Amino acid sequence: MLIETFTVGMLSTNCYVVSSQYDKEAIIIDPGLDSSSEAKQIFDYITQSNLKIKLIVNTHGHQDHVTGDAIFQEKYNVPIYIHKYDSPCIEYMQKSKGTPVVFLGEGSLIKFDNESLKVMHTPGHSPGSICLVGEGLVFSGDTLFAGSIGRTDFPGSSNRDMQLSLQRLMRLPDNLLVYPGHGPSTLIGEEKKVNPFLMG
Ligand SMILES: [Zn+2]
Ligand SMILES: [Zn+2]
Repeated sequence: MLIETFTVGMLSTNCYVVSSQYDKEAIIIDPGLDSSSEAKQIFDYITQSNLKIKLIVNTHGHQDHVTGDAIFQEKYNVPIYIHKYDSPCIEYMQKSKGTPVVFLGEGSLIKFDNESLKVMHTPGHSPGSICLVGEGLVFSGDTLFAGSIGRTDFPGSSNRDMQLSLQRLMRLPDNLLVYPGHGPSTLIGEEKKVNPFLMG
């Protein structure tokens, strides 16, 4: 699995292009960009690497993770995958664009080529927040950051759910690489040691 990170939008969201080296199929995670001009570097990377985009995944429905959905949907004509509890956040796009949306739930598999990512439903930051677990890595959205966690003061947030979701994440193997929705990547084992929000 090859991962290319693009930091986009006003809130410096990590947009990941994840591809298989086998047959060049790829997915886009959280295209939270503000403008089509920002999409150009991502389009260029995809073209130069000869990738075939299969789908877009949103780790949750907040603006800073979904605003670029339509730009990529239009360019590659692919469906958008999101947890059903956060799907109302992108309904306005369905109406205007006829965007096919695929609803994810706990245990759903996202497949491209011989790769797959398994959905872990991790509510707390938002009701439909998900993490995507693959071989040796996890995309943690706005649930877990290096040294911090996602806010739980938004409408639909739940501090209690967040605590339960973090407990589940901490049961993942220590050597799992964490690719968060914002900021640098880290390791589950490292967060167990240094993240003050996990020591409560
Ligand atoms: Zn968020
Ligand atoms: Zn965010």
